[in-house]
Amino acid sequence: MNAPDLSLSRLMGTPQSLEKLVIACVLAESQRVGAQPLIRGLGAISFNLLCTTCLPDMALDNGVAERPLFDEFEELFELLIEHAEPMDQMSIWLAAAIATAAQRDNHLWQDMGLPSRRELSAILNLRFPRLAAANNADMKWKKFFYRQLCQRAGVPICKSPQCGDCSDQSLCFGPET
Ligand code: SF4
Repeated sequence: MNAPDLSLSRLMGTPQSLEKLVIACVLAESQRVGAQPLIRGLGAISFNLLCTTCLPDMALDNGVAERPLFDEFEELFELLIEHAEPMDQMSIWLAAAIATAAQRDNHLWQDMGLPSRRELSAILNLRFPRLAAANNADMKWKKFFYRQLCQRAGVPICKSPQCGDCSDQSLCFGPET
């Protein structure tokens, strides 16, 4: 059976909410890079409901991980969920999708298969507004999330107490292109 067409051009041609577009983009990118599962942290019932809600005309299998993954998925998922407003099923799906994509190596908007950083900032402000507002210096999103996690864990990762004095500024700030 051929894989469902989750190309961005097809998805962008269908009017849908920003939330659904983001979910669809993450599914498409996960499929493109061969990730299993496509979105982590969701049971079969929740994933099927996600598909029915966001991509009703496509049959998708989330897949299963071949081996245990030891990374920061759970911590980032929890951070997002704690800041979800409203805290509903869509926010759970988005938190899982963002935390899944964040384990990859590129800018977060790229790992999510989004057209640009703009859509990422928009969904974070829409669904996780307090967390988005805390990024008041416009740090790169993935750097910002991991700095939050390290601060919560009491693990210092920064080379300097002040960003202004830090030699890693270019890694944490600046355009994500
Ligand atoms: S610029 Fe330096 S101090 Fe600021 S968040 Fe990045 S690593 Fe930490």
